[in-house]
Amino acid sequence: MPLPLPVSLTPSKVASFKDCALAFRFSAIDRLPEPPSPWATKGTLVHRALELLFCEAPAGRTLEAALGCLDRARAEMASHPEYLGLGLDAEAESTFAAEAEVLVRRYFELEDPTRVHPIGLELRLEVQLGSLTLRGVIDRLDLDPDGGLVVTDYKTGKAPGVPHEQSRLGGVHFYAFLCEQLLGRRPVRIQLLYLSEPVAIVAEPSDQSIRGLEQRALAIWKAVERACANDDFRPHPSRLCDWCAFRDFCPAFGGDPERARELVAVS
Ligand code: SF4
Repeated sequence: MPLPLPVSLTPSKVASFKDCALAFRFSAIDRLPEPPSPWATKGTLVHRALELLFCEAPAGRTLEAALGCLDRARAEMASHPEYLGLGLDAEAESTFAAEAEVLVRRYFELEDPTRVHPIGLELRLEVQLGSLTLRGVIDRLDLDPDGGLVVTDYKTGKAPGVPHEQSRLGGVHFYAFLCEQLLGRRPVRIQLLYLSEPVAIVAEPSDQSIRGLEQRALAIWKAVERACANDDFRPHPSRLCDWCAFRDFCPAFGGDPERARELVAVS
């Protein structure tokens, strides 16, 4: 029986379909709940702290202010189900807080926030491409000294090795594409700030990169449409399986995908 199409694609959904079509189905189509992970929750916390920092006037964006913003973000998060779901004990909680602080401190090794001119924070963008809706959230959109748009994406995980750099930049080209479609201007620069290293990966969007992104997004959408029409989402075991929330339902690990559907049907 054909499966319903997901309503939209985001950069992470595109990556998840390419990594493993079955995991994509569980997440984007069956919408199985995924347990909160300390890495993702820490990322949410650090993103919020940096968002608060950029609400300050430029001269006030000091390291001390950033640590204050982190405290505020932690207070906001303390009662959030995502954080409570981690079930951290006191020791794990203080490790979690210390690791988040390291990420905020390392941000200051990558750029001087007093010299950044943001014009948008946590911007939600959406464009229609034929029958496909593309959605994304831009962490920060800046104006450079010449008035050009700069897209910045904070990353709290490890930076990719050189062979994977271009594929990781695909996500940011995605944001450049959304900007161009919605604001009528192509960003002059896109940058991924990997806070844990810390390292910045920077690229300049071009006709070629934007066209390539559009073609890849449409090709993936066609593949998703085909997979839905034929109910054919295959597992693709890789190192990512170690972190996959759906292993219990995955045939590569002796699971039964039908059980996932039964769960969805009763929920
Ligand atoms: S366990 Fe691995 S192969 Fe199975 S769904 Fe998850 S990522 Fe895909």
